[in-house]
Amino acid sequence: MIMKEYKIALIKGDGIGPEVVDGAVKVMDAVSRKKGFTLKYTECLAGGCSIDRYGIPLTDETLNICKNSDAILLGAVGGPKWDNVDASIRPEKALLGLRKELGLYSNLRPALMYKALSDACPIKGLDSMDVLIVRELTGGIYFGRRGRTENGAFDTEEYSDYEIRRIVREGFRYAMGRSKRLTVVDKANVLETSRLWREIVANESGNFSEVSVEFLYIDNATMQLIGRPQSFDVIVTSNMFGDILSDEAGQITGSVGMLPSASLGDPGKPGMYEPVHGSAPDIAGKGIANPLATILSCAMMFKWSLGEDEAAQMINSAVDTVLEAGLRTADIYKGEGRLVTTEEMTSAVIEAL
Ligand code: NAD
Repeated sequence: MIMKEYKIALIKGDGIGPEVVDGAVKVMDAVSRKKGFTLKYTECLAGGCSIDRYGIPLTDETLNICKNSDAILLGAVGGPKWDNVDASIRPEKALLGLRKELGLYSNLRPALMYKALSDACPIKGLDSMDVLIVRELTGGIYFGRRGRTENGAFDTEEYSDYEIRRIVREGFRYAMGRSKRLTVVDKANVLETSRLWREIVANESGNFSEVSVEFLYIDNATMQLIGRPQSFDVIVTSNMFGDILSDEAGQITGSVGMLPSASLGDPGKPGMYEPVHGSAPDIAGKGIANPLATILSCAMMFKWSLGEDEAAQMINSAVDTVLEAGLRTADIYKGEGRLVTTEEMTSAVIEAL
């Protein structure tokens, strides 16, 4: 029998990026051996390390490798070394470039609280939370016109109805696959783009009549997310609101070292998977970074880009097992359980597979 083979572009990036990606690759290899498929990796540079080598954060070569892969795994980019480079070549430009060039308009950020980590939750008494934030990723104020005037500066929030409709539909589809509840977060009392979002949601809801829709203004949503986190299921929102809200949701679940993400475009196009955290320069090279956010991102990759649902489930269960067994990297260690390094956590996940 011919073994299925998937092409994976690996962008390790900067800081702890290489440490957590190396761990995740070991886990993916272990899973693929068990499930009978192979993964062919191509490493490429982006971010600070690409600036060092090529003078720019994202090269055509990296873009082409990504475009010709089934999926991309990215560690993190950036760090103090590149904080003072020209704004046009900052490491984050690589992320914006990859999202735009690969058409990754849909950013999925699950915020799931693990029972074993409920003591890391900053909200007293909360022991469960399972929210999926669907953030629009290639439009809005991060990509709108910007500039300086004689005595000020401006950034522009712009959305076409096409851009809104495709992400709103994604929100409805994920809600259909979960508990059929969708929260739309906007600022429709002030912003014209938000009023257009509401019109489009109202139109689309006719095609998803089983889904109940709630509208919240962003300021209220940030409060409600803390006040009643368990009442949320799928949230769909614009680029900037999603950026803020997903960090807030993530923080409620415990540590940023636990949060995976997926950025997806049209079906059949490569998706990009990365931990939510950054390059953590304060702990880079110490071997103590939590690899679980990246490992969980691989589970998302198996599910959403490779269609290997069982392999994804294996990873999620293995992570559950190691947390239940009390293994903790420094970021999730609260005095109980066993304090472990990046490598020890990775090996434990592989053993739990
Ligand atoms: P950060 O996420 O890198 O770090 C914030 C804090 O969380 C730090 O104390 C760090 O040690 C800790 N942390 C992060 N990931 C961890 C992990 N896996 N295990 C244990 N602890 C972890 O955010 P920051 O400090 O604001 O940014 C540092 C650099 O990363 C900046 O250059 C920033 O631009 C960049 N950044 C990149 C991305 C990305 O590549 N997607 C995202 C955010 C920030």
